[in-house]
Amino acid sequence: MRRTKIVATIGPATSARAVLQDLLTAGVDVVRLNAAHSDMATHANNVRLVRELSAALGRSVGVLVDLPGPKIRTGLVAGDAAELATGQEFVLSGSDDGRGDAQHVGTTLPDLASWVQPGDDVHIADGAIVLRVLQSVGNDVRTEVVRGGTLRSRKGMNLARAEAYVEPFTERDALALEMAITAKADFLGLSFVRRAEDVERVRALLPKRGPRPALVPKIETAAAVDNLPGIINASDAVMVARGDLGLQMPARRVPLLQKEIIRMCNRAGKPVITATQMLESMTRSPLPTRAEVNDVANAVLDGTDALMLSEETAVGLFPTQTVSMMSEVAESAESWAHDRVDPGEITVADADRVAWAVAHAAVQAAEYLGVAAILCPTRSGQTARRVAAFRPKMPIAGISMGNQVLGGLSLVWGVRPLVVSEALESDPLRISIAAARAAGIVREGELVAVVFGSAGPRAGSTDSVRIIRV
Ligand code: PGA
Ligand code: MN
Repeated sequence: MRRTKIVATIGPATSARAVLQDLLTAGVDVVRLNAAHSDMATHANNVRLVRELSAALGRSVGVLVDLPGPKIRTGLVAGDAAELATGQEFVLSGSDDGRGDAQHVGTTLPDLASWVQPGDDVHIADGAIVLRVLQSVGNDVRTEVVRGGTLRSRKGMNLARAEAYVEPFTERDALALEMAITAKADFLGLSFVRRAEDVERVRALLPKRGPRPALVPKIETAAAVDNLPGIINASDAVMVARGDLGLQMPARRVPLLQKEIIRMCNRAGKPVITATQMLESMTRSPLPTRAEVNDVANAVLDGTDALMLSEETAVGLFPTQTVSMMSEVAESAESWAHDRVDPGEITVADADRVAWAVAHAAVQAAEYLGVAAILCPTRSGQTARRVAAFRPKMPIAGISMGNQVLGGLSLVWGVRPLVVSEALESDPLRISIAAARAAGIVREGELVAVVFGSAGPRAGSTDSVRIIRV
């Protein structure tokens, strides 16, 4: 049984019902919709489809809507492909005529010319194409192609000088946010976050009650790296967004930053996703490179909660095979005993100290006794997240009546979300054990540990662990 979660971006290659069903069956835990692409009605339809298919499969699959943020992009390319040859001249236009070709393309940054200087490198599509600025002419920028390739529509552009000045929350973000709330998405990815306030500003826009998405800032700017503790503290989960991160700073820093961010998130009890280019070559090939297999395995050993696929599943030729491959590699890596956080390392608020101590005691007792599973009846999902932070060897069940809580747990290492139809308050022990038996997680005669609040599973009131023979 794999413990690491898999996030898969869906797109043209995977939004057909049958393909999406195969993808979920292959083991996707969270579906990511990239709001930088497609219209919001298409995304809303895809959310409905994911909900319908996962209900039919009897699984809680999370939905992550990724807000594009102030990402600068190229405009539309006629026919969606233009060949740029190394050495040729190419013009980036300040306005988008929607008809990009091998000589020019528009961009989403109107005053583009004021953000570049001769000699600057402009990276397109995570560096697949590199342009060197020659000269600005009015709103246009003349460049030389220093790394050629196939240019497609609406690809990300990296201009180091411009990043710090663009608005953190764009009109398209507002549209995507509204769609995500209406569609009851579980997670909101926040692109190009620079500081904790960027997260707090979005949180202020969420409904004050009822279902609302968890916020997942993406660490992909140099500024975010300087402000990690504050951003992690303001977040519900975090993404190590290696694509842009490796352009905003030398790519050689990314492997160590990945380890550092994952460790900080583990210690804060916040789920963390490792993203981008994990099995990139499988976009076109049925087999990954050895280096990619090692990368997936190493992210697991670093302690990541989840692994993400982008182009591999959005536009790739082998989406289902890629998910299966990731799943096998992750599960295999999990057999290696890596470091686990110690309770003394947890960055814990005073109010949560009891709940953390009980979660740790539950994991210790569970492993000492070799119980079949740790059951966490929970109203907020916090109890299951805390238990998971200590990476116990046995399954963790996050048990709730609320789909929103279960959706949130779809990202958390090792947690099986289980839905119940009875209010847990009446008898959390009996209801949890019945749910775990029905799901086949425990059998008669086995021991389980149940972590719960004796005053009912109110958020933050966890104070008890019971060891029970089923
Ligand atoms: P993106 O974010 O795919 O939206 O660019 C992930 C990354 O930059 O790694
Ligand atoms: Mn990015």
